[in-house]
Amino acid sequence: MEIIKADLFGFCFGVRRAVDIVEEKLDERKKIDTLGPIVHNPNVVEDLSAKGAEVVNSLDSVKTDSVIITAHGAGREIHEEIEDKGLNLIDTTCPIVKKAQETAENLVQQGYQVVIYGENDHTEVRNILGWLDGKGVAILDPDEEVPIPEGRVALLSQTTKGKKYFFDFAADFLQANRDKLEDVKIVDTTCGETRRRYEAAERLAEQVELILVVGGKNSANTRKLAEVAANTGIETHHIKDESEIKPDWVDGVKTVGITAGASTPQSAVSSVEQTLKELD
Ligand code: SF4
Repeated sequence: MEIIKADLFGFCFGVRRAVDIVEEKLDERKKIDTLGPIVHNPNVVEDLSAKGAEVVNSLDSVKTDSVIITAHGAGREIHEEIEDKGLNLIDTTCPIVKKAQETAENLVQQGYQVVIYGENDHTEVRNILGWLDGKGVAILDPDEEVPIPEGRVALLSQTTKGKKYFFDFAADFLQANRDKLEDVKIVDTTCGETRRRYEAAERLAEQVELILVVGGKNSANTRKLAEVAANTGIETHHIKDESEIKPDWVDGVKTVGITAGASTPQSAVSSVEQTLKELD
């Protein structure tokens, strides 16, 4: 069996930067609290937890004098609460997410209401909305009835959505709401890092019979990567790690492709590769 890896996969610069900051801080102290998982990958979170980075779900649970905001950022209220509590803020918000937050906030200040093409319950999306004083919503379906798409509306995207999907959404949204809209801005806030991984998965699909997409099931960009790979028509499986590989998937298969989400470490990909070699 030939194993081919995508020409681009795994940690993006935003995740690498966040993990590096946490590790740097752990060199200076034994314990640190992170508000939510630093990235959406259970193996990375477990690894950092073993080194002393404890995940807390609210600021009331912080036991040290500092708190880390993750690569997905945080809303204004959380920043204010951190200040009120006198905690040191270690901000690992990815610069691309930060830019999306600032863009959305500026548009609201200019009088626009913001519609984000994205998942309402995703941390990054919630945190962008958290800067908009209630003047934003997140939707995935352009026909969805939402309370604000009237007058001046700005369309933005969750960073991990594909650019093509965002533009298709924007076109459908404009069509569905054309009678209510007066002044529309469309700002492409998709992330090039994830787009390049999606394109690499499509190139990989041209060379293999089966694709394994490695990464956390709670990672939006990994789920999207698996969707992009599956849309090529090549059999695709999204696995958290090598323990989820089923031997019958590779039975009689001559070429297997591997790719991984932007929050998946190289070690996870190496373990999958090793398991495939053992199955061969
Ligand atoms: S996928 Fe893009 S937006 Fe998300 S952390 Fe990585 S670089 Fe930042």
